[in-house]
Order: sequence, then C-alpha cells, then structure tokens
Amino acid sequence: MKQFGFTISKGRQLNFDEMKTDKVEKLLELVPSYKLCIGCGGCTASCSAAGFTDFNIRKIHTSFLRAQYDGLDEQLKRCMLCGKCLLVCPRGVNTRSLIINMRRVLNNVDAVTWRPQRELKQKEQGGGEQ
Ligand code: SF4
Ligand code: SF4
Repeated sequence: MKQFGFTISKGRQLNFDEMKTDKVEKLLELVPSYKLCIGCGGCTASCSAAGFTDFNIRKIHTSFLRAQYDGLDEQLKRCMLCGKCLLVCPRGVNTRSLIINMRRVLNNVDAVTWRPQRELKQKEQGGGEQ
C-alpha cells in the first residue's frame, strides 16, 4: 500500500568550514573546463541514460562540487560514456572526461593505473604502450 503523508527532509545547508574539498580540488585539476559550468542542466536534458533511469548527471556533478560524495560512484556506473552531453554543453565542459575523472577521484585511482584491461595485460606481458 502506498504510504501517504510527508517526511522531514535532510538539511541542505553547506558548512564550508567542514567541507572536505580535497577531491573537488583534484577533479578541477584534472578537468579544468569544469570551472566554466553554469549548472544549466543541458547535459541532463540530452543524456541517453536519463531516458531510461533516474540518472541525473547535473545533480551528480553538482553534489560532487559541494563535496557530497555519498553514493555518487554507484550512480556514475549508469553512464554509458556516449558523449552526447559533451556535444550540447554551452560552456564547453568536457563532461565525459568529468565523469571518468569523478570515478577516478572517488576510487583513488591515479591516471596511470586507470587503463583498459587490454593495455594493462599488454604491459604485464612486457608489450608496453602502443
Ligand atoms: S551542460 Fe555544461 S554548463 Fe550546463 S550543467 Fe552540464 S556541464 Fe554545466
Ligand atoms: S556520456 Fe553519460 S552522462 Fe553524458 S549523455 Fe552519455 S550517458 Fe549521459
């Protein structure tokens, strides 16, 4: 049976003194174009994944910017990396790189180890980079 009534929402105030912004700073270093984002939501409006799920890329990157990281990595797995959001962004934010790097920063994976399995296997077998 559907529950009626209302619930008290969690407070949305940001305490800038307590925010842990190290991940945000790292992300801005990796994707400088994100500094140009105006939060217009064009990325969400064009998103392929948003058509099938409640995935909302603007909400995710805004939460990241506010240092509210809980659950973001799990949500980011729904992105198909199709790049449509990249094509429509009026500010030229490299959203696909933003998504990849949000996952990289959330998982503490550096740029060297975050490689396709094929490349890693080649390296293990002494093939090096191509
Ligand atoms: S479309 Fe670009 S400017 Fe607009 S919210 Fe998305 S990333 Fe930010
Ligand atoms: S790259 Fe990801 S966030 Fe961007 S439009 Fe495609 S599915 Fe959506």
